[in-house]
Amino acid sequence: GEALAVSARVAPLGSRLVLLLVEDLTEARRIEAVRRDFVANVSHELKTPVGALSLLSEAVMDASDDPEAVERFAGRMQIEATRLTNLVQELIDLSRVQNDDPLEDAEPVRVDELVAEAIDRCRHQAGTKQITMAAGGTADLHVWGNRSQLAAALGNLVENAVNYSPARTRVGIAARRVSGSGGDIIEVAVTDQGIGISDKDKERIFERFYRVDPARSRATGGTGLGLAIVKHVAASHGGEVTVWSSEGQGSTFTLRLPEAGLARDRAHQHPALD
Ligand code: ADP
Repeated sequence: GEALAVSARVAPLGSRLVLLLVEDLTEARRIEAVRRDFVANVSHELKTPVGALSLLSEAVMDASDDPEAVERFAGRMQIEATRLTNLVQELIDLSRVQNDDPLEDAEPVRVDELVAEAIDRCRHQAGTKQITMAAGGTADLHVWGNRSQLAAALGNLVENAVNYSPARTRVGIAARRVSGSGGDIIEVAVTDQGIGISDKDKERIFERFYRVDPARSRATGGTGLGLAIVKHVAASHGGEVTVWSSEGQGSTFTLRLPEAGLARDRAHQHPALD
């Protein structure tokens, strides 16, 4: 009688254990599949510009008595080389944000400086499309984190806003402090009047190499890694990135990060005073 009662008690526990084990295996398989997909994607993305470069160099050799054609092919070689450089740089950035602990050399970072840097990075591209960039609310705000990672994250959001917007539109960057449960949070919202993103795509754009329109992304030098980098940076800083969008109207990407409180700044700069 007792043995039966015990086994009746153990049995559900046993099946739960088996279930956990199965879930664990499924999760391990999923991670393995994601890793394999990533390697396949990287290989494919590298092959495309390398293949183009190899064909173009042959074309240059065949056209050696036609200076105009040589110049045309050389121009396209330059575009492919830039594409390759961007891709390798973004892969390095991604692996860095995935592997390094950003809080090891965290410091208070001025939001107005991050925003100015992001705007500078896109000034040329915005200028050619006559896109106006405007920032507000950034004065006296500081976030807590790794300066170069935060700059890369915000830079990617502003760059996307410019890339996925038609000419003569506006990109706005607005920052503010909001009270969160675990202390104050700084919100930086990047708003564009661009093509927007469907609900279905919204769920996937933060995945590595996911693009709504691969041809359009490539045409602007996109690698499909930008938002994956932003998401990693936000998460490793204890923050998050969210998107609001309406197709054909525009998008707002909001980065939420922990504030670098003044008290913490002071403790950091003058530990002896505390
Ligand atoms: P990419 O290098 O292609 O820009 P991202 O990871 O930065 O890669 O973005 C992934 C995809 O999300 C883009 O290819 C684009 O389809 C979409 N996307 C990102 N930002 C915007 C935006 N502001 N407006 C519309 N679509 C966007």
